[in-house]
Amino acid sequence: MSTPLHSKVLIIGSGPAGLTAAIYTARGNLQPLVIEGEPSSTSDQPGGQLMLTTDVENFPGFPEGIMGPELMMRCRDQAIRFGTEFLTEKVTKVDFSSRPFRAWVRDTEYTADAIIVSTGAQSLMLGLEEEKRLIGHGLSTCATCDGFFFRGEEIVVVGGGDSALEEAQFLTKFASKVTIVHRRDSLRASKIMQDRAFKNDKISFIWNKQVTRVLGEDKVSGIEMTDTVTGEQSTLNVTGIFVAIGHRPNTDLFKGILQMEDTGYLTTRAGSTYTNIDGVFACGDVQDHIYRQAITAAGSGCMAAIDCERWLEAQHS
Ligand code: NAP
Repeated sequence: MSTPLHSKVLIIGSGPAGLTAAIYTARGNLQPLVIEGEPSSTSDQPGGQLMLTTDVENFPGFPEGIMGPELMMRCRDQAIRFGTEFLTEKVTKVDFSSRPFRAWVRDTEYTADAIIVSTGAQSLMLGLEEEKRLIGHGLSTCATCDGFFFRGEEIVVVGGGDSALEEAQFLTKFASKVTIVHRRDSLRASKIMQDRAFKNDKISFIWNKQVTRVLGEDKVSGIEMTDTVTGEQSTLNVTGIFVAIGHRPNTDLFKGILQMEDTGYLTTRAGSTYTNIDGVFACGDVQDHIYRQAITAAGSGCMAAIDCERWLEAQHS
């Protein structure tokens, strides 16, 4: 068997968190290896969720805005400039039970003195064919990111949980009307969020309807709904659809290995990126279900790099 490829720092995942961790550890002369994921239509691809967005207008430093994929490309180039190595593969197995830590891409083994996990999360989607085509073109999974583009427009939010109601509430700052489409006749969201939504004049509800088609070729023009009780179909003309039916962190790889919450988000020690295993750090959306922004992910990637650097130094002192 060949000798495993060893690196001081192995970063798993390459969204804003992983790439920022790469820039910092590379500048700290730790020659990180980033196993960045494989191209796919979901957000666990290289670059993460920003690869599925168009304009990003809230990342500081880009007053004119920047396309999500371009922002990630620039971060990647910046990481390469300081000596980061990239591998466009998906980690298939890890073993963090002893040091050096071990990770595999199919049969190839990699070892590392420290690990930074930044595998991100994905927004759950409705599973409709046209979602892939229209995401970033009227279809969004993030009100904070895209709400601004829907000034004075009529939009729908799909879902009945706290996320859907929070997104709807936020979107009323921009949209002229927000309709929440829910598949049942009662909400899953907390009472306080429900009360707020019911009180908001700009929010209305459509009950017992499942969105079965998003209409529009290049841009969203409406939705088709199917009544979950009668099976009857109807359409609604809107220019925006926000899918807010939950998120799933990409943590299957770490089940039984790293401590995680019931929801699958990795647990990190308060105010740091330390996981329950010394030398394994987690940053970005894989451990953050609250903020979920590119800039907060990048910030926690920086934290992970600093935590990792200091931890490695302490091992040798
Ligand atoms: P959630 O509580 O799981 O709710 C998901 C909602 O989407 C449910 O109403 C569900 O319908 C609906 N849904 C799921 N799959 C669907 C599908 N395929 N088609 C149509 N509708 C579908 O998820 P969440 O709202 O993201 O919240 C996750 C957790 O974060 C919760 O614990 C929540 O309290 C918390 N959170 C808190 C806040 C806050 O406090 N500010 C904000 C956001 C989230 P059913 O009800 O029929 O299952």
